[in-house]
Amino acid sequence: ALSDCLPQWRSDRPVTELEREFRGRGDLLVRVRAEGMAQSVLAAPGGAAVGASAARDEHGRIHLSLADLRSDQEATARHLSDREQLLLMSRSLSVGEMASTLAHELNQPIGAITNLLRGLLIRSERGTLEPASAAPAIQRGIEHALYASGIIARVRDYVQHRQPKAEPVALRTLVDDAIALLDWEIRRDGISVRVSGSSDGREATVLGDRVLQQQVLVNLARNAIEAMRSIPQPERQLEVSIRIDEDRAVLGIADRGHGIDEAAATRLFTPFFTTKPGGMGIGLHVCRSIIELQQGRLWYTPRTPGPGCTFWIELPLALAEEAVSP
Ligand code: ADP
Repeated sequence: ALSDCLPQWRSDRPVTELEREFRGRGDLLVRVRAEGMAQSVLAAPGGAAVGASAARDEHGRIHLSLADLRSDQEATARHLSDREQLLLMSRSLSVGEMASTLAHELNQPIGAITNLLRGLLIRSERGTLEPASAAPAIQRGIEHALYASGIIARVRDYVQHRQPKAEPVALRTLVDDAIALLDWEIRRDGISVRVSGSSDGREATVLGDRVLQQQVLVNLARNAIEAMRSIPQPERQLEVSIRIDEDRAVLGIADRGHGIDEAAATRLFTPFFTTKPGGMGIGLHVCRSIIELQQGRLWYTPRTPGPGCTFWIELPLALAEEAVSP
């Protein structure tokens, strides 16, 4: 056990004390005379945790590395609070639409938690549940639950609308971040993702609210992923393209899914229009409001050659002097 190797490190020591010690020792790598240590997490009072893992080097020595997981937890909390702010996005949303948006946003973490718990249950019934491999799944579950409860907490502040920011946003980074947020769905459905930037080497930086724009991309990419459930896995391709057209950036999200028929096409952006059994039909409406709020346009075209469709976003480029810190 960790405490046998390093008797001074007790799991019940105050976090602040551990932190001080971590800071003093930098990226801590301690050589110990111990063998067979698995990866473990020590809980500390206050909910913080210390991660410990051991590996053997070519000389047969065991290296023990310890990491303060608290900074990870703080990063997660920051990320969550960013995403909660999405709910205060537009003055044009009525209370009914806000309630629907909430339900839409809550669906995702609740679904993720259900899947994680199901996975754990199946493994436990089969007797294949190792504590070390269960911990990351439980940690993910906690993150999703925190996200969901953060959203609910935010409803109380609903009346205090948040003004959208106008900051330089690098589209490529935004796309990469949105894809990272959907990483679980992408892996689950076996989707290959291709992102292509503008060929003239200019960085497409737009002026707008990063958090809101990210929500648009996540919604569009999630729709694309869902539309491809009906086609065989090898054909599931999500293509994101970014190009610059004079003083505008144009971003396309193309899928090879079931596409949109004519009747649906006319109602796509109407609130509550959905063809999905559990759908809310609010995503595209909110996405369009956000983009228009930022002097942009959002539209859709069938993909050529089909099947599938492309959703396009056009936003004004930031001026050179504005685009300093994406
Ligand atoms: P929801 O996803 O809850 O249904 P949205 O407003 O995001 O709400 O989408 C409305 C409808 O538009 C969807 O139910 C679907 O029929 C259609 N749709 C959106 N994106 C796509 C897509 N990429 N491919 C096919 N249909 C889509």
